[in-house]
Amino acid sequence: MQRTDTLNIDPTCFSTREYVNHRYAELAPHLERFPDGIEDWRSHAARLRVELTKLLGGFPARRGLLNLRMEEPERFDGYTRRYVVFDSEPGVSVPAYLYLPDAPGMHRAVLALHGHGRGKDDVAGVSENEPSWPNVAEHQYDYARRFAERGYVVLAPDARCFGERGRDGMDCGWAFKAALLMGQTLVGWRVWDAFRALDLLQSLPEVDPNRIACVGLSWGGTHTLYTAALDRRVKVAVVSGYFSTFKDVLIDKNSCACQYIPGILKLADLPELIALAAPRPLLIQNGTDDPLYTLEVVKAQFARVKRLYERLGAPEKVDLDLFEGGHRWNGAKAYEWVDRWL
Ligand SMILES: [Zn+2]
Repeated sequence: MQRTDTLNIDPTCFSTREYVNHRYAELAPHLERFPDGIEDWRSHAARLRVELTKLLGGFPARRGLLNLRMEEPERFDGYTRRYVVFDSEPGVSVPAYLYLPDAPGMHRAVLALHGHGRGKDDVAGVSENEPSWPNVAEHQYDYARRFAERGYVVLAPDARCFGERGRDGMDCGWAFKAALLMGQTLVGWRVWDAFRALDLLQSLPEVDPNRIACVGLSWGGTHTLYTAALDRRVKVAVVSGYFSTFKDVLIDKNSCACQYIPGILKLADLPELIALAAPRPLLIQNGTDDPLYTLEVVKAQFARVKRLYERLGAPEKVDLDLFEGGHRWNGAKAYEWVDRWL
């Protein structure tokens, strides 16, 4: 049999990447539109939430009991931290850290969602003797603890397949594929847990139920994006290290399977989904040296989100924090943003 590399054939036709690029180009005109006008956006956003929920595989029809279990508090300067467990649905338990201020009364609250790594332990900044601690420090990753130090009630749960929920050895890729077979998504499963975390925060006497923010880095940014898009109990959002287009971040960069939603590009692109937070205060953070995103794409797409906020009469409620650095949290602006708007 003759080898094809001896023939005069253009080898690009062997490339699945080229095929994907061609198929994507067919979708690009659809992805470039953002609806004009306030009324158009609001009706569009309502429809988009319904369609997005379908693509995520839907959510359980009923919210079961949270069955909150708490350990004794550990005391710190000005606040306590408790290890807690709650049920997000029957048979699904979620371990988390709950921070409560020492000061009496109702407080503002933050749902702190982690990225890839050790789960809630990273954002809580616990186990400073762990080998991964330098990574936490470098990425300013302990934002749950930092918000607690600023007087917020903070809940930092493990997402499915991370921390204690990853001890069965099954990872994001496995869970994504298993969910796919059942017409569901790992994004949807994790977002449901975030809805239930908001239920828990709202049930606490220490929390003002109308003043809850959601924040996260990397996967935590993804988690925050979808939670804020679908649940308007999130009054302020900080999406860190997860803003660009799906082509840039999920096709060209080949990211972790846990972020993929089958058919999403037929519905909307990432900037249109993050804009479902509008006109609520939204801070987007990207490092100028973050290898996971293309800076020019980030800037151009943010301009579109900004224009939408302007049309909605709230230009001051969205910002892009382009800080010098890589794939990390940038506390310099995020804490001030939540302090200001929540
Ligand atoms: Zn993942």
